[in-house]
Amino acid sequence: MINFNINLVLRLLQGIIFILIISIGFGSCGVCSVWNKQKISQADQGFAEDSVRILSAIEDMDTARIPHFLIDINIHFVKHPELGTFYRGKPEDSNIENGLHWARLLINHVNWALDSLGTSPLSSANVKGDAHYNFNLYTESTNTQDSFGGIWFWDRYAPAIYPYGERVLNIVLQDDGKRMLNGAACGLDFCNVLTLYGAYHNVKYKGKFGWWAFASLLNHEVGHIMGLCHSFYCGNPCAGIDLDPAKECHEGPCYNDCGGPNNGVCNNWNSGSQNMMGYNSGQNALTPCQWKLVMRNLFQTKSKFIRRLPFGQETGD
Ligand SMILES: [Zn+2]
Repeated sequence: MINFNINLVLRLLQGIIFILIISIGFGSCGVCSVWNKQKISQADQGFAEDSVRILSAIEDMDTARIPHFLIDINIHFVKHPELGTFYRGKPEDSNIENGLHWARLLINHVNWALDSLGTSPLSSANVKGDAHYNFNLYTESTNTQDSFGGIWFWDRYAPAIYPYGERVLNIVLQDDGKRMLNGAACGLDFCNVLTLYGAYHNVKYKGKFGWWAFASLLNHEVGHIMGLCHSFYCGNPCAGIDLDPAKECHEGPCYNDCGGPNNGVCNNWNSGSQNMMGYNSGQNALTPCQWKLVMRNLFQTKSKFIRRLPFGQETGD
């Protein structure tokens, strides 16, 4: 009887221990996975709430609840076989032919324009003041090739491989001896190369287009890259909201291409427009519809050269 009881007790004990191990094992795993799921869903929910909140702030133009963005850029000066290009001077050398000096003037002017958006008389509404995005010259201190902090000088041809790849928006300054103030952007969906023609030609031969004109042009081209069509484009998504493509075109009804040059169909320069996406001397005005489009795209893009800054921060480090 005693033996039997001991055996029975031992078996019972084994059984209890087995059940305990199993239940603790499953129990802890179950708790872990439930806990992890909770953590993930809370993070997802937080992110989703953040997105909804910011997107609704953009719709409402509630600027206090809209973050600022930085566009990380590099500048590339490309030498023309006859004309040459800007020289590689010292940062403190303020000769206008010093590429470092000219690039700094350009970036300062672009950022000034973006901090103080103007008014275009042809639009039914304009965004005033801070555009909520700025340009930032990008460099990495560990890159020993990057001697001029994100400003590069190339002989004859634009670089086939850009030193920072997709991490920056590459702004190429080139001359062809013909185009005195022209730009070309790679596309509308945060591609990362744009070319400006004529900057050095204007400096060398004292032409009428200085860094300020190229800053306007640069804002226009970056407008394309962020998804904006020309203000005189017939199919502009802001047409009829706060933009009038026919007025922007001035002569002719409008132009049937989002980003193509209008080849004389419009007479933009006499239109009186100051819209960033028109052809004019100001290019410093955006309508609310255009600006919301830019903000939405800046917020939603996966582009590596767009940085969303924490609330309260407006400039780079
Ligand atoms: Zn354009």
